[in-house]
Amino acid sequence: MLTSASMDNGVLSINLEPEKEDVEHIKGSKIGLGSEKAKIILEGVNKENIHPDLIALSTILICHPFVSSRIKLPCEVSEFFLETCRSVTTKYTLEGNVGSSIEAIKPPIRGRPGLAFSGGADSTAALSVMPSNTVPIFMNRPIKKGSKYNSEAALNSCNFLKEVGYDMIVVDSDLEYVRDPVGFPSDIAHSIPAILLSQHLGLDSIAFGTVLESAFGIGHEKYIDYPKGAHYRFFGTLLSAVGLQMSLPIAGISEVGTSIINEVSDLGIIAQSCIRGGVGKPCRYCWKCFRKELLGMAIGSTLSVPAVGKIMHSPEVQKKLSDFPISHENVVTFSIRNIDFEEHRYLGFLRNRLDIGKDLEFLRNWYSPSIKVVPDKYADSIRKSIIRYIEPMSSSQEEQVVCWDMVPFLESKSTKDSHFALTSSWQDFYWEEN
Ligand SMILES: [Zn+2]
Repeated sequence: MLTSASMDNGVLSINLEPEKEDVEHIKGSKIGLGSEKAKIILEGVNKENIHPDLIALSTILICHPFVSSRIKLPCEVSEFFLETCRSVTTKYTLEGNVGSSIEAIKPPIRGRPGLAFSGGADSTAALSVMPSNTVPIFMNRPIKKGSKYNSEAALNSCNFLKEVGYDMIVVDSDLEYVRDPVGFPSDIAHSIPAILLSQHLGLDSIAFGTVLESAFGIGHEKYIDYPKGAHYRFFGTLLSAVGLQMSLPIAGISEVGTSIINEVSDLGIIAQSCIRGGVGKPCRYCWKCFRKELLGMAIGSTLSVPAVGKIMHSPEVQKKLSDFPISHENVVTFSIRNIDFEEHRYLGFLRNRLDIGKDLEFLRNWYSPSIKVVPDKYADSIRKSIIRYIEPMSSSQEEQVVCWDMVPFLESKSTKDSHFALTSSWQDFYWEEN
């Protein structure tokens, strides 16, 4: 992949030029290259103020899924950056020149934490447990014609955070259009604005709203020892190449726990995970709305009860519920376990499909060994904040995390049969209004 970068009037453009083998690689991949150009609007910043290592790292994060064997970096970089990145990029080589006068980025002495903020429930819960000088940075995607995406609610949350005193940063960027279907090209690509502005804002770390399900594999087939895993090593090392630490303050908190935090925290009112609805009006059609509303019923926080039954008619939700396992199956199971089935009999087929006898109360609590994936500097304050909202897990609950294994359940005949019954039920799905 050949790349180039230019800056004009505060707009950074990163251009990709796939080579023949990249084109072949993309053809065999599930995601396509939707655009060869990404723009990031960095108002008030000159090119001279952006260290070339930051531009190079952003380029790597944008190119990552589309590269076959090499990335030719868009600019000269520091030796430390190149060597550090090369220590983890094993799927392709990084080609670039070391600039003799380019020094590696040193972490700021009095730095502050950044947060790649999305406006959703998990990212709001992350902000709630982080120090008050945290800089939330939201990447705002321009809306293209025909898109269901609606940034109104997220931008409204950003305004709220500004009003209550956060140094809230909103950066416009179309980089999600590089990927087809539209979305972040790599797992931490939504932190590119934070990376590019890290020196400007004096950041020493970037936090993400990654929850227990995504980090430790709970709700997926098996437990993952995340701090020792390839994902943390890969992205953590890339960030360290530009003097930033990766921080996952809520990695030990399930989606159940983040909902509980948002119920009680001062910031909770802004949490809206749906990226289609307007301010305070989730679309009630998408998968996120279904999961969040179901969970709201379980923990007693929401809602107009008929909503869940209606959302179940959505083909998008039915498609997600047909996945095996269901995405965040633990959260769906926890919710159904805590909902009065007699009042919601339309959930019957789904209920039969789940491991409804499994004790999942540990999802309300904090898996405290996850503090390892928070920078030492902030560990104490984050620990104190979390336990203000939810309790740490007991040792037997921690054991439930470490021993998480859905495979025997998923492989059993009765699960497969009830999965078939659920997916066959859609056509004659019954729903009583009221
Ligand atoms: Zn929605």
